[in-house]
Amino acid sequence: MLNVDNIDVYYGAIHALKGVSLEVNEGEVVTLIGANGAGKSTLLKTLSGLLKPKSGSITFLGKPIAGENPTAIVSQGLVHCPEGRRVFANMTVEENLELGAYLRKDHAEIRKDMEAVFTRFPRLLERRKQLSGTLSGGEQQMLAIGRALMARPKLLLLDEPSMGLAPLLVAEIFRTVEEINKQGTTVLLVEQNANQALKVAHRAYVLETGKVVLTGPADELAQSDEIKMAYLGH
Ligand code: ATP
Repeated sequence: MLNVDNIDVYYGAIHALKGVSLEVNEGEVVTLIGANGAGKSTLLKTLSGLLKPKSGSITFLGKPIAGENPTAIVSQGLVHCPEGRRVFANMTVEENLELGAYLRKDHAEIRKDMEAVFTRFPRLLERRKQLSGTLSGGEQQMLAIGRALMARPKLLLLDEPSMGLAPLLVAEIFRTVEEINKQGTTVLLVEQNANQALKVAHRAYVLETGKVVLTGPADELAQSDEIKMAYLGH
């Protein structure tokens, strides 16, 4: 579904991604783990067109997308749920969800998808008329995921969905990721919570200072001594 081949990404003189290659197959949950500053968010931003690689290629569903604008990329089904949730604080829950569907014109289907988001996250239904800035962190994360789903992603990029949430909510967010995947959406999940991410993912990539240093089936990486020491805290 997604093929990233040897990309280099810079912020001015900072070489943030160094020859990164990665692939995601349809139906998978793939997780990208790595310490702060490893380049995980940079990779997602490059996939969704917010950054342009200096070299290398990105192919999504058989088409080259590197350097295309973010709108064109979303319309092909590659949708980014950003780090820090980035909900529109002065808009209601419902308005945020409507914005997720801004490229769509199928109004009846948009309504249905909004109802599906409310079924998945009943707390958003209770708060549908509330300003999003007044929601708790966990509710804002649900809204950010719901808003991304409103674009009908084929591949959903999730950047640190569990960040800053209490343990019960973290568990709920990871359950949600699994459900979304079981219902047919492919997921590329960036996480610092390697422990949980490796439990829901099929495969994983480890990024260190802009390079992929390890990749393999998630259950195998969870057993590797290197990963245990560096990322799992035991
Ligand atoms: P985090 O979990 O902290 O977001 P990350 O693995 O997602 O970490 P990135 O945010 O992708 O890491 O950052 C990769 C590197 O690029 C870091 O060295 C970071 O300082 C640098 N970087 C990120 N954004 C910018 C920017 N806008 N301008 C300059 N350098 C940046």
